[in-house]
Amino acid sequence: MIPNNLNHCMVRIEGAHKSYLSGEVKQPVLIDASLKINQGDFVSIVGPSGCGKSTLLNLMGALDQADEGEVWVDGINLTQARASDLAKVRRQKIGFIFQFFNLISNLTVLENVELGLEAMGGRQNGRKERAMQYLDLVGLQHVLHKFSDQLSGGEQQRVAIARALAKEPALILADEPTGNLDEENATKMAELMRSLHSKLSATFVLVTHNPSLAKGADKTYRLSKGKVCEIPKSSA
Ligand code: ADP
Ligand code: MG
Repeated sequence: MIPNNLNHCMVRIEGAHKSYLSGEVKQPVLIDASLKINQGDFVSIVGPSGCGKSTLLNLMGALDQADEGEVWVDGINLTQARASDLAKVRRQKIGFIFQFFNLISNLTVLENVELGLEAMGGRQNGRKERAMQYLDLVGLQHVLHKFSDQLSGGEQQRVAIARALAKEPALILADEPTGNLDEENATKMAELMRSLHSKLSATFVLVTHNPSLAKGADKTYRLSKGKVCEIPKSSA
């Protein structure tokens, strides 16, 4: 286990502005939003539906760019990066976990995780072993050869988690990962993410509108009126 006391900044967002056009009207979503996340932290971001949580996460994930302000991930300034460099950051540094799992239904569980590794490029050697190692970590060693659509929602999300972790990325971004699960599976998923975080050295950012899920994080931030503010632990 690697201790989480490396005081290196994994994500830094400085004065980010982001608006979308709604018809002819410019609708601001992020207004001078700033946030710093240290390497190895487990952070949650809460706020009501539509407040801009996915927009903020997509900036950190190099999936979208801010209109103004700066976004740094693991020392790389995404604001100035070329599209090809952004793609490289996404492939090599970031593991995504989404609400709707985004698995390929006509591939097996193992193939889904292997495909995630293939997208990173590099040598083929050891991909299968690595995929199996992470499927084992999320407790799915017994369903490796099942098709992903034969699994329950909770199991599908565990495949998606294994796929994200197998890349061994510096940063794991989870956008409402329990939003499509029942309460029991949501609680299990939250416990699994906590336990994975304590075993691995990655930084976890969990976006949720479920306050009880957010409580397990080391730090919780609220997105409100386009800005990010930390919620003190005692009142979270
Ligand atoms: P959250 O994840 O907190 O529910 P989002 O970041 O998805 O919020 O969206 C914030 C606001 O921005 C919403 O009003 C949404 O409708 C709008 N929005 C998000 N993405 C787009 C887009 N690509 N085009 C236009 N409007 C968008
Ligand atoms: Mg969202």
